[in-house]
Amino acid sequence: MNKERAWNLLKEISFVRVSGTAEEKRAAEIFLKAAQDAGVDAVIEEFETENAKVYEASLEVLEPEYRKYPVIGIGKTAATADEGVCGGFKYIENGLDANLTDIAGKIVLVQGRVMPELAKKLKEKGALAYILLAGNIYEEDSIRNELRPTNAFGTSHEIPGVKLHMCDGEELVRSRPEKVRVILKTEEVKQPSWNVVATIEGTDLKNEVLVYSAHYDSVPYSPGSWDNGTGSVTVWELMHYFKEHRPRRTIRFLLCGSEEIGLVGSKKYCEAHQEELKDVIFNINFDMTGVTLGYEHVRCSCSEDTMHAIEHLAKVEGFPLDAKLGMYSSDSSSFAEAGVPACTFARLAPRGGAEIHNHHDTMDRLDPDSFMTTLCFTAKLGEQIANAAVNPIPRKFAQKVTEEMEERAKMRGTDKKDKTADKQEEKKD
Ligand SMILES: [Zn+2]
Repeated sequence: MNKERAWNLLKEISFVRVSGTAEEKRAAEIFLKAAQDAGVDAVIEEFETENAKVYEASLEVLEPEYRKYPVIGIGKTAATADEGVCGGFKYIENGLDANLTDIAGKIVLVQGRVMPELAKKLKEKGALAYILLAGNIYEEDSIRNELRPTNAFGTSHEIPGVKLHMCDGEELVRSRPEKVRVILKTEEVKQPSWNVVATIEGTDLKNEVLVYSAHYDSVPYSPGSWDNGTGSVTVWELMHYFKEHRPRRTIRFLLCGSEEIGLVGSKKYCEAHQEELKDVIFNINFDMTGVTLGYEHVRCSCSEDTMHAIEHLAKVEGFPLDAKLGMYSSDSSSFAEAGVPACTFARLAPRGGAEIHNHHDTMDRLDPDSFMTTLCFTAKLGEQIANAAVNPIPRKFAQKVTEEMEERAKMRGTDKKDKTADKQEEKKD
């Protein structure tokens, strides 16, 4: 494994790489070329995402005093007529029933995520639109302007939604507006996105497969060096390693597109390769490694036995690793939900130590030596699994994992086909 090669690749792909854009595709092509240059079989697999385009969104206070706030429209919510919707205003906090007693004809401000169930209630009780709070009230101006596109959580919402910065939300509530207007022009669109898949075929146990994965897309404004250039480059460096150390089992190196709009790339991969999934014994996913200030975490969506085995190896290697059972907001969840035991490695920063999902996510907060530590440990872990005499990973899930899986299904609403739920708020602990 080569630190310089990894760092150069990370620099090369540190540009904004949003789902469905030419930049996402450009990043996929950079990875493809790196694999081909290394003499590894690799392909780009295109898939379709169901996304939304927002053409116009605005929020105006009409009475008692005119004011206009910067907002962005929430995709997969209902468009308004050209002239918008206009009515009273109410701050409905968490949207408990007691908050919703007098919302007919009003535009409501809500905190937290609007689940499909709440969106339905708002519509039924006659609310005209909802305003979602985002951001942090202490944010500097440069970040305040980076409200990023969001889609309705779960299923599409039959009521228009816009997103407002926390600071403006506070001002709005304090000013007790009597009449407000929301305009939202949006439609649902299908867009292409791309997974990159490299394969190193195993020697004598090649029908069994280990999948290393990471997403390589980023969000608007974010060069995504930490989230998740680091994970992507980790997977590609592992590819170089196993090219030199050919494993007994087959290893796939999967870089997923469109993770940031709801784990779409990994879900599409699992759908497209359903037949092969029964032979995939484990998925080791990476989402954000190499940050200078941070601690090593692995979220295990597998059996307790497998988690203990990972912890055991970490202790043997002197790798300080915080291991927990559960689901994670990353591509490992797609594999777990498809029945494949999985885990995600992450190096998580202390609060205030480093930020993702805005222009601060650059190489500045990263440390090549920390990056290499995670890489070396997970190479060892993968090597033990890929070369084991018998498959050491039980194909089962701890009770806690199953429960969280069920919880996620419930949160998504009944429409399990909807893949573009916004997940940014559950991104980190
Ligand atoms: Zn990520």
